[in-house]
Amino acid sequence: MAPATEPLNLYEFTRAELGEWLARGGLNAVHAGRIWNYLYYTAVSSLDEMTDLPPRVRARLEQETALGRLPAEHESRSTDGFTRKYLLRLRDDRCIETVLMRFKGRVTACVSSQAGCAMGCVFCATGQMGFTRHLTAGEIVAQALHIDRVLRETSADSPALADPADNSPHGRHERLRNLVLMGMGEPLHNYDAVMKALEILRDPNGLGLGARKITLSTVGVVPGILRLAEEARPVHLAVSLHAATQEERAALVPAARAWPLDELMSACRTYCQKLRRRIFFEWTLIEGKNDGVEQAHAVGRLLSGLPAQVNLIPLNPTSGYQGGPSALEAARRFQSVLAGYSLPCTIRQRRGIDISAGCGQLAVLKG
Ligand code: SAH
Ligand code: SF4
Repeated sequence: MAPATEPLNLYEFTRAELGEWLARGGLNAVHAGRIWNYLYYTAVSSLDEMTDLPPRVRARLEQETALGRLPAEHESRSTDGFTRKYLLRLRDDRCIETVLMRFKGRVTACVSSQAGCAMGCVFCATGQMGFTRHLTAGEIVAQALHIDRVLRETSADSPALADPADNSPHGRHERLRNLVLMGMGEPLHNYDAVMKALEILRDPNGLGLGARKITLSTVGVVPGILRLAEEARPVHLAVSLHAATQEERAALVPAARAWPLDELMSACRTYCQKLRRRIFFEWTLIEGKNDGVEQAHAVGRLLSGLPAQVNLIPLNPTSGYQGGPSALEAARRFQSVLAGYSLPCTIRQRRGIDISAGCGQLAVLKG
Protein backbone atom coordinates (compact mmCIF):
# COMPACT_ATOMS: atom_id res chain seq x y z
CA MET A 1 0.00 0.00 0.00
CA ALA A 2 1.31 3.46 -0.84
CA PRO A 3 2.29 5.56 2.18
CA ALA A 4 -0.35 8.11 3.14
CA THR A 5 2.17 10.92 3.43
CA GLU A 6 5.21 11.98 1.43
CA PRO A 7 8.25 9.88 2.32
CA LEU A 8 10.90 11.64 4.38
CA ASN A 9 14.07 12.36 2.45
CA LEU A 10 16.93 10.69 4.33
CA TYR A 11 19.38 13.33 3.10
CA GLU A 12 17.33 15.88 5.03
CA PHE A 13 18.42 14.43 8.41
CA THR A 14 21.47 15.28 10.45
CA ARG A 15 22.94 12.21 12.15
CA ALA A 16 21.46 13.32 15.49
CA GLU A 17 18.03 13.78 13.91
CA LEU A 18 18.21 10.33 12.41
CA GLY A 19 18.82 8.89 15.89
CA GLU A 20 15.89 10.88 17.29
CA TRP A 21 13.62 9.69 14.50
CA LEU A 22 14.55 6.07 15.20
CA ALA A 23 13.97 6.56 18.93
CA ARG A 24 10.56 8.14 18.32
CA GLY A 25 9.57 4.96 16.51
CA GLY A 26 10.71 2.81 19.43
CA LEU A 27 13.92 1.73 17.69
CA ASN A 28 17.46 1.94 18.99
CA ALA A 29 19.09 5.23 18.01
CA VAL A 30 22.39 3.42 17.69
CA HIS A 31 21.36 2.27 14.21
CA ALA A 32 21.66 5.85 13.01
CA GLY A 33 25.42 5.31 12.70
CA ARG A 34 25.09 2.40 10.30
CA ILE A 35 22.39 4.10 8.23
CA TRP A 36 24.65 7.16 8.05
CA ASN A 37 27.47 4.98 6.75
CA TYR A 38 25.21 3.64 4.04
CA LEU A 39 24.17 7.15 3.05
CA TYR A 40 27.55 8.87 2.95
CA TYR A 41 30.30 6.28 3.20
CA THR A 42 29.20 3.57 0.84
CA ALA A 43 26.83 6.04 -0.83
CA VAL A 44 24.13 3.47 -1.56
CA SER A 45 21.82 4.06 -4.50
CA SER A 46 18.72 2.58 -2.91
CA LEU A 47 17.33 1.48 0.43
CA ASP A 48 17.62 -2.14 -0.75
CA GLU A 49 21.37 -1.90 -0.40
CA MET A 50 21.07 -1.27 3.36
CA THR A 51 21.17 -4.99 4.01
CA ASP A 52 22.91 -5.09 7.36
CA LEU A 53 20.14 -3.60 9.50
CA PRO A 54 17.59 -5.21 11.84
CA PRO A 55 14.36 -6.05 9.98
CA ARG A 56 12.31 -3.59 12.07
CA VAL A 57 14.63 -0.74 11.19
CA ARG A 58 14.58 -1.64 7.51
CA ALA A 59 10.80 -1.90 7.54
CA ARG A 60 10.43 1.55 9.04
CA LEU A 61 12.89 3.04 6.57
CA GLU A 62 10.99 1.48 3.70
CA GLN A 63 7.61 2.61 4.97
CA GLU A 64 8.47 6.18 5.80
CA THR A 65 11.58 7.31 3.97
CA ALA A 66 13.19 7.60 0.57
CA LEU A 67 16.63 8.45 -0.76
CA GLY A 68 16.29 11.90 -2.26
CA ARG A 69 18.79 11.30 -5.04
CA LEU A 70 18.61 13.78 -7.87
CA PRO A 71 18.67 12.00 -11.21
CA ALA A 72 20.90 13.57 -13.85
CA GLU A 73 18.84 14.55 -16.87
CA HIS A 74 21.89 15.69 -18.75
CA GLU A 75 25.66 15.87 -18.48
CA SER A 76 27.86 18.32 -20.41
CA ARG A 77 31.64 18.02 -20.50
CA SER A 78 33.94 20.89 -21.35
CA THR A 79 36.36 20.25 -24.21
CA ASP A 80 39.37 20.74 -21.93
CA GLY A 81 38.07 17.88 -19.74
CA PHE A 82 38.20 19.94 -16.53
CA THR A 83 34.53 20.74 -16.06
CA ARG A 84 31.32 18.73 -16.03
CA LYS A 85 27.90 20.23 -15.62
CA TYR A 86 24.85 18.25 -14.50
CA LEU A 87 21.22 19.08 -14.97
CA LEU A 88 19.61 17.45 -11.95
CA ARG A 89 15.90 16.79 -11.58
CA LEU A 90 14.14 17.67 -8.33
CA ARG A 91 11.13 15.77 -6.97
CA ASP A 92 8.69 18.35 -8.32
CA ASP A 93 10.25 17.96 -11.80
CA ARG A 94 12.00 21.28 -11.64
CA CYS A 95 15.68 21.23 -12.52
CA ILE A 96 18.87 22.76 -11.20
CA GLU A 97 22.48 22.72 -12.29
CA THR A 98 25.53 21.47 -10.39
CA VAL A 99 29.10 21.70 -11.62
CA LEU A 100 32.21 19.57 -11.04
CA MET A 101 35.45 21.47 -11.59
CA ARG A 102 38.93 20.02 -11.67
CA PHE A 103 41.87 22.15 -10.75
CA LYS A 104 45.42 20.99 -10.24
CA GLY A 105 45.28 18.45 -7.43
CA ARG A 106 41.71 19.09 -6.36
CA VAL A 107 38.09 18.71 -7.31
CA THR A 108 35.47 21.28 -6.42
CA ALA A 109 31.70 20.93 -6.46
CA CYS A 110 29.75 24.08 -7.25
CA VAL A 111 26.26 23.57 -5.85
CA SER A 112 22.99 25.48 -6.15
CA SER A 113 21.01 26.75 -3.19
CA GLN A 114 17.81 27.76 -5.01
CA ALA A 115 15.98 27.00 -8.25
CA GLY A 116 16.50 30.38 -9.92
CA CYS A 117 17.30 33.50 -7.91
CA ALA A 118 15.32 36.49 -6.69
CA MET A 119 18.23 38.94 -6.65
CA GLY A 120 18.15 39.87 -10.34
CA CYS A 121 21.82 40.78 -10.94
CA VAL A 122 21.74 42.05 -14.50
CA PHE A 123 24.68 40.03 -15.83
CA CYS A 124 23.73 36.69 -14.29
CA ALA A 125 21.76 34.03 -16.17
CA THR A 126 20.23 32.70 -12.94
CA GLY A 127 19.09 36.21 -12.02
CA GLN A 128 17.69 36.64 -15.51
CA MET A 129 15.47 33.55 -15.10
CA GLY A 130 13.93 34.74 -11.82
CA PHE A 131 13.13 32.86 -8.62
CA THR A 132 11.27 29.58 -8.49
CA ARG A 133 11.87 28.15 -5.03
CA HIS A 134 14.32 27.47 -2.24
CA LEU A 135 16.08 24.12 -2.23
CA THR A 136 15.77 21.96 0.86
CA ALA A 137 18.85 20.93 2.83
CA GLY A 138 18.47 17.43 1.39
CA GLU A 139 18.49 18.76 -2.16
CA ILE A 140 21.71 20.65 -1.49
CA VAL A 141 23.30 17.58 0.13
CA ALA A 142 22.19 15.41 -2.80
CA GLN A 143 24.12 17.63 -5.24
CA ALA A 144 27.38 17.10 -3.36
CA LEU A 145 26.62 13.37 -3.20
CA HIS A 146 26.01 13.34 -6.93
CA ILE A 147 29.48 14.77 -7.53
CA ASP A 148 30.94 12.32 -5.01
CA ARG A 149 29.33 9.43 -6.94
CA VAL A 150 30.72 10.72 -10.22
CA LEU A 151 34.18 10.71 -8.64
CA ARG A 152 33.67 7.17 -7.31
CA GLU A 153 32.63 5.98 -10.76
CA THR A 154 35.34 7.76 -12.71
CA SER A 155 38.17 6.88 -10.37
CA ALA A 156 37.10 3.36 -9.33
CA ASP A 157 40.12 1.08 -9.27
CA SER A 158 42.43 3.87 -10.30
CA PRO A 159 45.35 3.51 -7.89
CA ALA A 160 46.77 6.87 -8.93
CA LEU A 161 43.76 8.62 -7.40
CA ALA A 162 43.63 6.64 -4.19
CA ASP A 163 44.68 8.17 -0.92
CA PRO A 164 47.32 5.83 0.57
CA ALA A 165 46.76 7.30 4.04
CA ASP A 166 43.05 6.50 3.95
CA ASN A 167 42.05 2.85 4.40
CA SER A 168 38.34 3.57 4.33
CA PRO A 169 36.09 3.12 1.26
CA HIS A 170 36.72 6.83 0.64
CA GLY A 171 40.44 6.14 0.24
CA ARG A 172 39.87 4.05 -2.86
CA HIS A 173 38.57 6.89 -4.96
CA GLU A 174 39.22 10.51 -5.67
CA ARG A 175 37.49 12.45 -2.94
CA LEU A 176 35.38 15.52 -3.00
CA ARG A 177 37.07 17.96 -0.66
CA ASN A 178 36.05 21.40 -1.86
CA LEU A 179 32.62 22.87 -2.13
CA VAL A 180 31.49 26.30 -3.27
CA LEU A 181 27.97 27.67 -2.89
CA MET A 182 28.26 29.57 -6.14
CA GLY A 183 25.72 27.76 -8.27
CA MET A 184 22.17 28.90 -8.84
CA GLY A 185 20.64 31.05 -6.15
CA GLU A 186 21.56 33.23 -3.21
CA PRO A 187 22.60 31.03 -0.27
CA LEU A 188 21.90 33.63 2.42
CA HIS A 189 18.34 34.00 1.09
CA ASN A 190 17.91 30.32 2.04
CA TYR A 191 19.93 30.47 5.23
CA ASP A 192 18.51 27.65 7.35
CA ALA A 193 18.51 25.01 4.63
CA VAL A 194 22.03 25.94 3.54
CA MET A 195 23.40 25.78 7.09
CA LYS A 196 21.74 22.46 7.74
CA ALA A 197 23.15 21.05 4.49
CA LEU A 198 26.63 22.22 5.49
CA GLU A 199 26.28 20.55 8.88
CA ILE A 200 25.41 17.27 7.16
CA LEU A 201 28.22 17.57 4.60
CA ARG A 202 30.77 18.41 7.28
CA ASP A 203 29.87 15.46 9.51
CA PRO A 204 33.20 13.66 9.99
CA ASN A 205 31.48 10.28 9.70
CA GLY A 206 29.96 11.24 6.38
CA LEU A 207 31.49 13.16 3.48
CA GLY A 208 33.55 15.00 6.10
CA LEU A 209 34.13 18.20 4.14
CA GLY A 210 36.42 20.58 5.99
CA ALA A 211 34.84 23.92 6.86
CA ARG A 212 37.86 25.69 5.42
CA LYS A 213 37.26 23.94 2.10
CA ILE A 214 33.78 25.41 1.81
CA THR A 215 33.10 28.87 0.43
CA LEU A 216 29.74 30.55 0.57
CA SER A 217 29.26 33.38 -1.90
CA THR A 218 26.66 36.06 -1.26
CA VAL A 219 25.34 39.00 -3.21
CA GLY A 220 25.50 40.91 0.08
CA VAL A 221 22.49 39.92 2.19
CA VAL A 222 23.40 41.98 5.25
CA PRO A 223 21.24 40.18 7.86
CA GLY A 224 22.68 36.86 6.67
CA ILE A 225 26.27 38.08 6.98
CA LEU A 226 25.59 39.31 10.51
CA ARG A 227 23.99 36.00 11.37
CA LEU A 228 27.02 34.09 10.06
CA ALA A 229 29.16 36.25 12.34
CA GLU A 230 26.83 35.83 15.31
CA GLU A 231 26.68 32.06 14.90
CA ALA A 232 30.42 31.90 14.17
CA ARG A 233 29.90 29.70 11.14
CA PRO A 234 33.33 28.40 10.18
CA VAL A 235 33.06 28.47 6.36
CA HIS A 236 34.76 31.04 4.11
CA LEU A 237 32.66 33.98 3.04
CA ALA A 238 32.87 35.65 -0.36
CA VAL A 239 30.91 38.84 -1.02
CA SER A 240 30.02 39.82 -4.59
CA LEU A 241 30.97 43.48 -4.77
CA HIS A 242 31.31 44.47 -8.48
CA ALA A 243 31.20 48.22 -7.81
CA ALA A 244 32.66 50.53 -5.20
CA THR A 245 29.91 53.16 -5.08
CA GLN A 246 26.28 52.63 -4.10
CA GLU A 247 24.97 54.06 -7.37
CA GLU A 248 27.14 51.93 -9.65
CA ARG A 249 26.50 48.85 -7.57
CA ALA A 250 22.73 49.25 -7.50
CA ALA A 251 22.73 49.42 -11.31
CA LEU A 252 24.34 45.96 -11.52
CA VAL A 253 23.02 44.36 -8.35
CA PRO A 254 19.43 45.39 -7.52
CA ALA A 255 19.77 43.82 -4.05
CA ALA A 256 22.05 46.75 -3.20
CA ARG A 257 18.90 48.87 -2.89
CA ALA A 258 17.76 46.72 0.03
CA TRP A 259 21.24 46.43 1.54
CA PRO A 260 23.22 49.57 0.62
CA LEU A 261 26.98 49.54 0.27
CA ASP A 262 27.73 51.31 3.57
CA GLU A 263 25.60 48.80 5.50
CA LEU A 264 27.23 45.95 3.61
CA MET A 265 30.73 47.16 4.42
CA SER A 266 29.82 47.65 8.04
CA ALA A 267 28.48 44.06 8.19
CA CYS A 268 31.72 42.81 6.58
CA ARG A 269 33.77 44.66 9.21
CA THR A 270 31.65 43.15 11.99
CA TYR A 271 32.13 39.70 10.43
CA CYS A 272 35.92 40.04 10.28
CA GLN A 273 36.21 41.50 13.77
CA LYS A 274 33.94 38.96 15.43
CA LEU A 275 35.44 35.95 13.73
CA ARG A 276 38.98 37.30 13.32
CA ARG A 277 38.85 35.99 9.83
CA ARG A 278 39.71 36.99 6.28
CA ILE A 279 36.90 37.83 3.89
CA PHE A 280 36.81 37.44 0.12
CA PHE A 281 35.30 39.86 -2.37
CA GLU A 282 34.31 38.93 -5.90
CA TRP A 283 34.46 41.44 -8.69
CA THR A 284 33.04 40.54 -12.08
CA LEU A 285 35.13 42.51 -14.57
CA ILE A 286 33.01 44.08 -17.30
CA GLU A 287 34.89 45.80 -20.08
CA GLY A 288 34.67 49.57 -19.90
CA LYS A 289 32.21 49.43 -17.00
CA ASN A 290 34.01 48.54 -13.79
CA ASP A 291 37.54 47.65 -14.88
CA GLY A 292 39.22 51.07 -14.86
CA VAL A 293 42.17 52.19 -12.76
CA GLU A 294 39.98 54.71 -10.92
CA GLN A 295 37.56 51.96 -9.91
CA ALA A 296 40.45 49.83 -8.71
CA HIS A 297 41.61 52.71 -6.49
CA ALA A 298 38.05 53.07 -5.18
CA VAL A 299 38.06 49.36 -4.24
CA GLY A 300 41.43 49.80 -2.53
CA ARG A 301 40.04 52.67 -0.44
CA LEU A 302 36.75 50.89 0.30
CA LEU A 303 38.44 47.73 1.57
CA SER A 304 41.27 49.42 3.43
CA GLY A 305 41.64 48.11 6.95
CA LEU A 306 39.79 44.88 6.18
CA PRO A 307 41.61 41.53 6.04
CA ALA A 308 40.30 41.13 2.50
CA GLN A 309 41.21 39.23 -0.63
CA VAL A 310 39.75 40.09 -4.03
CA ASN A 311 38.83 37.60 -6.72
CA LEU A 312 38.45 39.07 -10.20
CA ILE A 313 36.08 37.20 -12.53
CA PRO A 314 36.12 38.27 -16.18
CA LEU A 315 32.46 38.48 -17.24
CA ASN A 316 31.03 35.30 -18.71
CA PRO A 317 28.52 35.70 -21.52
CA THR A 318 24.79 35.37 -20.81
CA SER A 319 21.92 35.96 -23.23
CA GLY A 320 20.33 38.76 -21.21
CA TYR A 321 23.33 41.06 -20.88
CA GLN A 322 25.28 42.84 -23.57
CA GLY A 323 28.55 43.65 -21.74
CA GLY A 324 31.84 41.94 -22.54
CA PRO A 325 34.68 40.58 -20.40
CA SER A 326 37.67 42.77 -19.63
CA ALA A 327 40.90 41.99 -21.44
CA LEU A 328 43.62 40.26 -19.44
CA GLU A 329 45.73 43.46 -19.43
CA ALA A 330 42.87 45.35 -17.76
CA ALA A 331 42.51 42.59 -15.17
CA ARG A 332 46.26 42.67 -14.49
CA ARG A 333 46.21 46.48 -14.20
CA PHE A 334 43.33 46.25 -11.71
CA GLN A 335 45.26 43.62 -9.79
CA SER A 336 48.41 45.74 -9.59
CA VAL A 337 46.49 48.79 -8.31
CA LEU A 338 45.06 46.63 -5.52
CA ALA A 339 48.55 45.34 -4.74
CA GLY A 340 49.41 48.98 -3.96
CA TYR A 341 46.78 48.81 -1.20
CA SER A 342 48.26 45.51 0.05
CA LEU A 343 45.15 43.71 -1.12
CA PRO A 344 45.85 40.18 -2.36
CA CYS A 345 43.99 39.67 -5.61
CA THR A 346 43.59 36.69 -7.93
CA ILE A 347 42.11 36.43 -11.39
CA ARG A 348 39.73 33.48 -11.40
CA GLN A 349 40.55 30.75 -13.87
CA ARG A 350 37.79 30.56 -16.44
CA ARG A 351 36.34 27.10 -16.50
CA GLY A 352 33.56 25.46 -18.46
CA ILE A 353 32.58 28.49 -20.54
CA ASP A 354 32.04 26.29 -23.62
CA ILE A 355 29.30 24.39 -21.75
CA SER A 356 27.89 27.48 -20.00
CA ALA A 357 29.10 26.24 -16.63
CA GLY A 358 31.03 29.40 -15.69
CA CYS A 359 30.11 31.83 -12.91
CA GLY A 360 26.70 33.32 -13.53
CA GLN A 361 25.92 31.10 -16.51
CA LEU A 362 23.71 28.55 -14.79
CA ALA A 363 20.09 28.63 -15.83
CA VAL A 364 17.43 26.14 -16.83
CA LEU A 365 14.29 26.55 -18.88
CA LYS A 366 12.00 25.16 -16.19
CA GLY A 367 13.60 26.14 -12.91
N1 SAH B 1 24.31 34.30 -5.41
C1 SAH B 1 25.66 34.27 -4.98
C2 SAH B 1 26.41 33.06 -5.50
C3 SAH B 1 26.19 32.62 -6.92
S1 SAH B 1 26.89 33.58 -8.18
C4 SAH B 1 26.37 35.55 -5.37
O1 SAH B 1 25.85 36.31 -6.16
O2 SAH B 1 27.45 35.79 -4.83
C5 SAH B 1 28.65 33.32 -8.04
C6 SAH B 1 29.49 34.49 -8.55
O3 SAH B 1 29.36 34.64 -9.97
C7 SAH B 1 29.09 35.82 -7.96
O4 SAH B 1 30.21 36.56 -7.55
C8 SAH B 1 28.42 36.51 -9.12
O5 SAH B 1 28.40 37.90 -9.01
C9 SAH B 1 29.25 36.02 -10.27
N2 SAH B 1 28.61 36.17 -11.58
C10 SAH B 1 27.30 36.23 -11.86
N3 SAH B 1 27.11 36.35 -13.20
C11 SAH B 1 28.34 36.37 -13.75
C12 SAH B 1 28.80 36.45 -15.10
N4 SAH B 1 27.97 36.52 -16.13
N5 SAH B 1 30.13 36.44 -15.30
C13 SAH B 1 31.00 36.33 -14.27
N6 SAH B 1 30.62 36.24 -12.99
C14 SAH B 1 29.29 36.26 -12.73
FE1 SF4 C 1 21.48 35.54 -7.77
FE2 SF4 C 1 24.12 35.51 -7.39
FE3 SF4 C 1 23.10 35.50 -9.86
FE4 SF4 C 1 22.94 37.70 -8.37
S1 SF4 C 1 24.80 36.72 -9.14
S2 SF4 C 1 21.28 36.84 -9.59
S3 SF4 C 1 22.62 36.82 -6.36
S4 SF4 C 1 22.86 33.89 -8.36
